[in-house]
Amino acid sequence: MNQKSISISYKEYTLNEGLDSRDMELLERAQLAAKGSYAPYSNFNVGAAVRLSNGEIVAASNQENAAYPSGLCAERVAIFYAHARFPEASVEAIAVTASVDGHICETPTYPCGACRQVLAESEMRAGKPIKVIIGGEKFTQEMESIRSLLPFTFDNLPKR
Ligand SMILES: [Zn+2]
Repeated sequence: MNQKSISISYKEYTLNEGLDSRDMELLERAQLAAKGSYAPYSNFNVGAAVRLSNGEIVAASNQENAAYPSGLCAERVAIFYAHARFPEASVEAIAVTASVDGHICETPTYPCGACRQVLAESEMRAGKPIKVIIGGEKFTQEMESIRSLLPFTFDNLPKR
């Protein structure tokens, strides 16, 4: 038996001080997108914005449905739309934020497990890390790769 461990590193910016200007723009686009959220059941408004290798930014929000599983998280709406709209481009960064009653949540709201898996595959498609920026009102965290949030990824399908 071998005992192993994993460590992750991330940056934390108090009140977004020191955050790269392009990443700040991405976070602001996510905050704006959250206002377009359709979340009448959870009242939890999430926004995500994706920066692509072609310079485009795609922003989206969570979309709920009375048949709960039919809804989709902001992160996946943004990622899937970005890949559908610009299939030749790769994702370089994603910013995520959430708000309740128009107020940004104090602490970062992390992507759910399913969104982490989708981000991981997007990173594999890109062949390089996707920066993850998760914004809260009090502080924002930044990971250099989705691997920091999902170190063990489902990716063991037979190669074709
Ligand atoms: Zn999700």
